Amino acid sequence: MSAPGFTTQTVHFGHRADTEHGSVHAAIHPSTEYTYRDAHELAAVFQNRKKGYTYARTGTPTTAALETQISMMEQGNGTVAFATGMAALNAVFFALLRQGDHLIASKYIFGNTNSLLMTLENFGVELSLVDATDVAQVQAALRPNTRMVFVETIANPGTQVADLKAIGDLCQAHRLVYVVDSTLSSPYLRPGRDFGASLVVNSLSKHIGGHGNALGGAVTQTGLYDWTHFPHIHEAYRKDDPHTWGLMQIKKKGLRDMGGTLSSDVAHRLAAGAETLGLRMDRICANALALAHFLDDHPLVERVQYPGLPNHPQHARSTEFFGGRHGGLLGVVLKEQTDVFACLNRLHVAALATHLGDNRTLVLPAAHTIYYEMGAERRALMGIPDGFLRISVGIEDEADLIDDFAQALEIR
Ligand SMILES: *Cc1c(COP(=O)(O)O)cnc(C)c1O
Repeated sequence: MSAPGFTTQTVHFGHRADTEHGSVHAAIHPSTEYTYRDAHELAAVFQNRKKGYTYARTGTPTTAALETQISMMEQGNGTVAFATGMAALNAVFFALLRQGDHLIASKYIFGNTNSLLMTLENFGVELSLVDATDVAQVQAALRPNTRMVFVETIANPGTQVADLKAIGDLCQAHRLVYVVDSTLSSPYLRPGRDFGASLVVNSLSKHIGGHGNALGGAVTQTGLYDWTHFPHIHEAYRKDDPHTWGLMQIKKKGLRDMGGTLSSDVAHRLAAGAETLGLRMDRICANALALAHFLDDHPLVERVQYPGLPNHPQHARSTEFFGGRHGGLLGVVLKEQTDVFACLNRLHVAALATHLGDNRTLVLPAAHTIYYEMGAERRALMGIPDGFLRISVGIEDEADLIDDFAQALEIR
């Protein structure tokens, strides 16, 4: 028998071996602390000599079941779940980098991540923001103290597709930690491991959870990186297989010390949502492509940025990487004379809200909201003009979505 497909795996083979009473979901464990009859055993768990739970800040059986599910989707050797995607990113950067290190990041990234990287600079990490759609730009930014490269698979909100495989090869050649934020593509379109990533970050709040009812984040270790080449792993975590050290440090620093912990209740909601990731992504990608074509032909639309359109600069790359599905995010720039706010106020299916990867289609004027704080100059650098709409396409019926945008754009 051939290996089961993505959705079969997800609904049947995640954590089931460990559940009680044949329950199809992992139990929601509310306990803060875990007791032991034998003090030796308690000590062994604290010293990582034995698997077990101590205090819920460092995880529960419920968050562990979610972590197993995400590891399976990403084909990784381990995952740590966090309270949000931002908590996951903070854990990666602050657990691994030190003052005087150099980080190369794509300049096309989520605005809050961009802001986080500016905080990292305040702590003495050198930062280069480069056009990661071209590996040559990453290569040109290399310094002797470069430790890490960070990119998004498909960028939020500009939809640029990074030169993912070539950057993976470059990182391997220079033994750099390669961190890929896979939030917009999700492991369903392609596991980050296929691009040579060392670590894959997913905001579980987005496609993986999918229902707009839970925040979460995850860091998955692909097992491709040998952490003996990374100088900042604490002595205590240099045990066992060196392909596992980095995630241990991320877990200890990110959960135990920084406390960005996911609760069991929320972990259950995310795990239930994740079961239908494949179904939702197929529908979302098909809807997004149809809406992208409709808007691209519309006289009030200046341009549509969607990797599924042949006019997208990385259309061929996106097709190669993601097998003809291009995600659910559209960047739409309306013509200059168009009243953006009047158009948005006429929508009655699509909801005006931030967030993405939801069952519902959500629309946001990006420059006036999530990119407002950073100012016009940084917006220009990131390619976000004033008339830029970020549309996160949902699972509605395609005709209803197209009709909604058609009537909203019947303005003068
Ligand atoms: C939303 C998002 C995040 C942050 O995730 P939260 O769960 O909202 O904290 C990180 N990266 C990308 C690409 C995102 O879209």
